[in-house]
Amino acid sequence: MVHPENDSQYKGLQVNSGVNSAPTINPYRRARARRQLSVNDYVEGILKGNVSILGQAVTLVESLAESHQQIAQEVIEKCLPYSGNSKRIGITGVPGAGKSTSIDTFGIHVLRQGGKLAVLAIDPSSERTKGSILGDKTRMEKLSLEPNAFIRPSPSAGSLGGVARKTRETIVLCEAAGYDNIFVETVGVGQSETAVHSMVDFFLLIQLAGTGDELQGIKRGIMEMADGIAINKADGDNIDRANLAAAQFRNALHLFPPTPSKWVPEVHCYSGYYELGVPEMWSMIDRYFEYVKSTGYFEHKRNEQAKYWMIESIDEQLRNHFYHMPEVAALLEQKELRVLNNEQSSFTAAKDVLDFYFERLRK
Ligand code: GDP
Repeated sequence: MVHPENDSQYKGLQVNSGVNSAPTINPYRRARARRQLSVNDYVEGILKGNVSILGQAVTLVESLAESHQQIAQEVIEKCLPYSGNSKRIGITGVPGAGKSTSIDTFGIHVLRQGGKLAVLAIDPSSERTKGSILGDKTRMEKLSLEPNAFIRPSPSAGSLGGVARKTRETIVLCEAAGYDNIFVETVGVGQSETAVHSMVDFFLLIQLAGTGDELQGIKRGIMEMADGIAINKADGDNIDRANLAAAQFRNALHLFPPTPSKWVPEVHCYSGYYELGVPEMWSMIDRYFEYVKSTGYFEHKRNEQAKYWMIESIDEQLRNHFYHMPEVAALLEQKELRVLNNEQSSFTAAKDVLDFYFERLRK
């Protein structure tokens, strides 16, 4: 016997057609369940200039997961033949010098001449401050609206060497995606300039006028690396002071040995915020590229950098292999104690640990 309500003749309840099903709360949610792209998907997407795929590939480069790294390395390898065709420009300066304001303005200036621009950053401190303070989209308001600009904050995980390597690998991907201008931003207070210097063609140091100390805590070594010095905030009643600072910098540069390229670094005043003197300043960079391409130094430096990064990569992997071996870590701890207690010298302790490591490798 059928329950009356289940009877097909039953009329007590009826289903109204109602409204169409409501939209899901987050319409973008489905994107997360994206299928895993293959190496070729990445490479094809990048070569077509697909920004979303480029962004995902950069995320893989930055990932610490072994499986991501494997894919990333294959993607990089396949993109390499399509890379290299860009002007790589490093931009440094102390916090507050006006790097992001300037990059915003420089970027628009560069894009007006055609082509595409990628803005990357190296900020090893972002690990501590949680979240990058550099290369941030919100700090580059004009550029972030440009379809031909790709802005990527600093990779945040790992040592300076690791962060720098990831940025260098990202350069390869961006170039393969057709970005013919690459800016690499870094904060001018520490070691990161050396890393940036080793991956760019032109190194621009942004300075300020009128803060008393002419060198503003910028180490002499950083000034020696600079191919150009740009005195920012040359606007309003700061113009005279900027010109004075420029003269001081020119004098200081005279005391430095010639640069390896024989290019004589220039000093220019400009205002990133009010967009004054930017074409004049930028023409220095254009002239630099013409010069180093005519002398062959451009190629020479890129080759030197490629060798440097190979050695860096070997160093990094050797170090990782050594320090991540648990027995080595345990022995190191013991040896540290002995050294601290003056029971053994640093050098013999180091030798013991290394001997142990090499012995383990042989087994
Ligand atoms: P960053 O820390 O080097 O990236 O510096 P920001 O670009 O964030 O600039 C620091 C401060 O200097 C901000 O308040 C900017 O508005 C200001 N600033 C940047 N460029 C100029 C400029 O050309 N002229 C003036 N007067 N102020 C500027």
